Amino acid sequence: MRLDKYICKSTQLSKAEAVCSIQAGRVSVNATVAIDAALQVHENNTIELDGVQLKPRAFRYLLMHKPAGLVCSNVDEAYPSLFNLLDIDRVSELHIVGRLDVDTTGLVLITDDGRWSFHITQPANACPKVYRVGLARALSARDIDELVAQFKQGIRLQGEQRLTLPATLEVISSKDVRLTITEGRFHQVKRMFAAVGNRVASLHREQIGDVLVDVDEGQWRYLHDTEVQSFS
Ligand code: URA
Repeated sequence: MRLDKYICKSTQLSKAEAVCSIQAGRVSVNATVAIDAALQVHENNTIELDGVQLKPRAFRYLLMHKPAGLVCSNVDEAYPSLFNLLDIDRVSELHIVGRLDVDTTGLVLITDDGRWSFHITQPANACPKVYRVGLARALSARDIDELVAQFKQGIRLQGEQRLTLPATLEVISSKDVRLTITEGRFHQVKRMFAAVGNRVASLHREQIGDVLVDVDEGQWRYLHDTEVQSFS
C-alpha cells in the first residue's frame, strides 16, 4: 500500500497530516528517510514516524442484518445509509462486500480489508450466496422441474450475452423459494426471475459462504476468526 495510507492505518493522522509528516522528513522506511507519500510499502518493511515504529491496525470484519429502506453505500440522497447503524470509529474506511438493493433485507458483510472482499466477490472463487425469495406469481407443480433445470443450466439476463452460472433453486412453497448463486451481477436475482416471467416480491439474503445472518434486523456483530478465514 502507499506510504501515506500505511501511516493513516497505523496512527490517528488524517491523509493530509500523513503527507505533511512524510514531506517534513519525519518518516523512515527501513531506516531511510522517505519523502514520497506514494511510495509502495509492505507490512514487512520497518516504518517509523519520529523514530517510533508503526504497526497498522488490524482489519475489521463485520456482519449486519440489513433492514429494508437503507442503502449499501456511504452517501445517497434518497435513503439513509446502513453505515448509520454502525456506532464505531472510522466508519468511512469500511466498505460492503456485495451490495443489496434498498428493498432487500439480510446478510451484509462489511470490512476495511480490500483483499478479503475482492476474494469473496471474484466470480472465479464461486462463493455461494443464498437468497430466500418471495415470488409474485405462484409456481405450478409443472413449472417447478422446468425452472430448477433452467436455473441449473443458466439464464440469459436481459441485455447480457453470457448465461448466468449454474444456480440451485429449492422450492419451499408455490411463492417461496431459496436460490443459491455464485455470482453477483447487478440485480441478479430479480433479473433471473424476470427472465422466466415472474417477479420478485421480497428478497432476503440468508447466507454468504458458510456465514449465516444470526442477529436481529438492524443489528451487527464482528465476525469470528474462523468465519473470516472460511473465505480464504
Ligand atoms: N439480487 C438482486 O436482484 N437484488 C439484491 O439485492 C441482491 C441480489
